[in-house]
Amino acid sequence: MRVLILGGPGAGKGTQGHQLCSKLNIPWIASGDILRDAIAQDTELGRQAQSYVEQGELVPDMITIKFIRQRLLQPDVKNGWLLDGYPRTAFQAEELDFLLDELNQKLDWVIWLKVSEDVMMSRCLDRSRSDDELGILQRRIELFQERTIPILEYYEHRHHLLTIDGDRSPEEVQQDIFNKLNL
Ligand code: AMP
Repeated sequence: MRVLILGGPGAGKGTQGHQLCSKLNIPWIASGDILRDAIAQDTELGRQAQSYVEQGELVPDMITIKFIRQRLLQPDVKNGWLLDGYPRTAFQAEELDFLLDELNQKLDWVIWLKVSEDVMMSRCLDRSRSDDELGILQRRIELFQERTIPILEYYEHRHHLLTIDGDRSPEEVQQDIFNKLNL
């Protein structure tokens, strides 16, 4: 199965994505984690992405498209995957479609963890990540609304968009996702 999990900061993408991957036995590919690891290891990708991630800005499409492409060409993801936090822009979504066509693969589900702004703020302020500091967090929420929300419509027309009320407890959200996917 090939699944995208999208949502704003603190929507629960990591928690839900992780559980879904264990249940489906598919690899979990989180663009934010890949970027944070690259920055920690001071790789070329990390150096290119660092200032954007630290300021809560989106890493330019050309950089993200390239590393996701490389990741999806690896043999361990041939039979399925879950992408967490990718795509985040219309351009990334279109490029992902081109890549999937090229690989002869199809997307099964797009899960949108819909969470209110109040919940995003309070969950993130309880974490200790540096990009969850108030001003940066507000920018990340703003970018989610401006750049990522519009692509949900794109998926509604082209794929199976599953809108999940993410304001509830992680257990309730998980159960809802599993029920809707017939797991
Ligand atoms: P996340 O852990 O998904 O909230 O991502 C953390 C940060 O990584 C974001 O605030 C962006 O700076 C960067 N990032 C992650 N995924 C993407 C993406 N698909 N496009 C652009 N930037 C991204």
